[in-house]
Amino acid sequence: MSPTILVTGGAGFIGSHTCVALAAAGYAPLILDNLGNSDVRVLDRLARIIGTAPRFVEGDVRDRALLDRLFREEAISGVIHFAGLKAVGDSVADPITYYQNNVHGSFVLTEAMQAAGVRTLIFSSSATVYGDPDSSPIPESAALRPANPYGRSKLMVEDALRDLRRADPAWRIALLRYFNPVGAHESGLIGEHPQGKPNNLMPFVSQVAVGLRDKLSVHGGDYPTADGTGVRDYVHVMDLAEGHVAALRHAEKQPGLVTLNLGTGQGASVLDVVKAFERASGKTIAYEVGPRRPGDVPAYWGDPALAESLLGWRARRGLDQMCEDSWRWQQGNPTGYA
Ligand code: NAD
Ligand code: UDP
Repeated sequence: MSPTILVTGGAGFIGSHTCVALAAAGYAPLILDNLGNSDVRVLDRLARIIGTAPRFVEGDVRDRALLDRLFREEAISGVIHFAGLKAVGDSVADPITYYQNNVHGSFVLTEAMQAAGVRTLIFSSSATVYGDPDSSPIPESAALRPANPYGRSKLMVEDALRDLRRADPAWRIALLRYFNPVGAHESGLIGEHPQGKPNNLMPFVSQVAVGLRDKLSVHGGDYPTADGTGVRDYVHVMDLAEGHVAALRHAEKQPGLVTLNLGTGQGASVLDVVKAFERASGKTIAYEVGPRRPGDVPAYWGDPALAESLLGWRARRGLDQMCEDSWRWQQGNPTGYA
């Protein structure tokens, strides 16, 4: 019997890819998602990749009665908690909604887990908890000073989980700080499809390549970087997905709490991404260098050494593959799952 892993937010971008990695590793993912930022048709696509659709429950992670029922009726051995809101700008405009969903949601989930005696939890944190770091690559020990409500919501949950583990050493927790997840499953069947105009670079570039948008606006060309544009640590979503499986395996072996960066350890500039996408797609990406985006950090990338030494995990896919896989998904699904 495959162990059942509850995947909150499993219909979303990173969650759906993680379901593929879980199934490949012999786990049975059980998705709980309110479909607030995802499309139920992802399940058919997952069925085509995995062979059978993961089990799916439509519902909210803040619904304690629903969680209690799931933990009672299903033999859940661990939880990967992706469910949450992630748009930085929205979190500034509507902070309470962000704290309600991301912080309160995580508290309801951990209370239900505690009541059910399930104490293995992999939590989606973010490199945004570092804010504007003093230097790169950023180790996990760097100062934590998130610059917006979204980042603070992640740090609050991290703090609460650290306290929880101090209070009850039986917990097995991994706090995973993702850098910039991009790319798509190599089949081109699942990927990221943001609603409306994309905020993030890679979906915007893909939409220019496929002809949905005229040109990319490069947010700032006067940063102190090699080509003047912002630098980030882009990491392929399937590498991230495999990182979750590795973290789960580690937690199963050893109680405690680990905090790990999941990134490549390499920075790429906006123009590096544009050039790689042009190579992958054979299209010219029209762009215009505009002003800096308020709140943006010039350059940062992670130090993934701890994840490698503890989990034996490292990102294997490079920027060219990230762009090739994004392009396959974008070209085959210009309007997402619709
Ligand atoms: P996503 O929006 O594609 O996935 C999140 C999923 O959670 C969606 O399917 C949404 O419908 C669901 N959801 C939201 N609130 C819910 C609730 N209260 N109850 C049930 N379901 C709910 O986002 P993603 O990119 O896959 O991100 C997953 C997690 O990783 C999030 O916690 C996010 O903050 C974190 N993260 C993402 C990035 C990134 O750049 N994509 C970077 C760092 C961290
Ligand atoms: N960026 C850009 N144009 C866009 C979107 C993003 O130039 O339309 C830049 C942004 O300024 C940053 C990099 O691309 O330097 C990554 O931005 P993204 O929003 O994808 O991630 P984050 O800023 O959250 O790391």
